[in-house]
Amino acid sequence: MRYIEPHAHMVSRVTDDYERMVLAGCEAVCEPAFWAGFDRSSVAGFFDYFRQLTEYEPKRADKFKLPHYSWLCINPKEAEDLALADEVLKIIPGFLDRPNVLGIGEIGLNKNTRNEMLVLEKHIALAAEHDQLILAHTPHLEDKLKGTKLILDVLKADSRIQPGRAIIDHVEEHTVSLVLDAGFWAGITLYPESKCTPARAIDIVETAGNEQLWLNCACDWGNSDPLAVPKTALEMKKRGHSAEAIDALIFQNPFRFLSQCQKFNIAQD
Ligand SMILES: [Zn+2]
Repeated sequence: MRYIEPHAHMVSRVTDDYERMVLAGCEAVCEPAFWAGFDRSSVAGFFDYFRQLTEYEPKRADKFKLPHYSWLCINPKEAEDLALADEVLKIIPGFLDRPNVLGIGEIGLNKNTRNEMLVLEKHIALAAEHDQLILAHTPHLEDKLKGTKLILDVLKADSRIQPGRAIIDHVEEHTVSLVLDAGFWAGITLYPESKCTPARAIDIVETAGNEQLWLNCACDWGNSDPLAVPKTALEMKKRGHSAEAIDALIFQNPFRFLSQCQKFNIAQD
């Protein structure tokens, strides 16, 4: 089995997790910028975080010969402070040329507030100006449907954004079609608590189709499982999915989306 882990917050994980992922068949890991579990107090905190994502983590992953990529942004949880968000948005372009940066993410909404919307719009404009891929986080539970619709509206409102170059993550049964029907990619997050179990994720794939979908573990500092993708692949095998169908979902699909950025250049065969 081989797979790409397109969404994992490795700064929060121990080095053993890298080793376990590689042993399970991981051929690349991608790390979107995220909330640290607490609000950072200044732009300097983000500067250091972006250095960690673009300098230190690739080196840690390389100990296991695992290519490491990252996405940059200020996450929606910290977007309430508009002055701080503007300062962070200003330093992002200085990192976009780094060899492992794939795009702007994970942007999006958390509580669907006015300030989150403003910062989302600015990130989308930044991605458009610099021709970057976009990875968007959708809110949890009762805020998810409204938040997903708002994010899609903002993306569609910017004529420079091509839907095929943006992925909307953490989709569920009630949001997946909205995303796919509008031409965007959709991500299903396998998470022990609030998001999908492997069985639920496979149900979604079986009903929504597997053309523009990827699976990810989104492992971070909370309860989460860096091996959720290969475990779900095993579940698919038990249900009778072919090796080709599994490879298409967990390797070929993320490969197709991510290789729209030329820096994502892992071997396909
Ligand atoms: Zn995440």
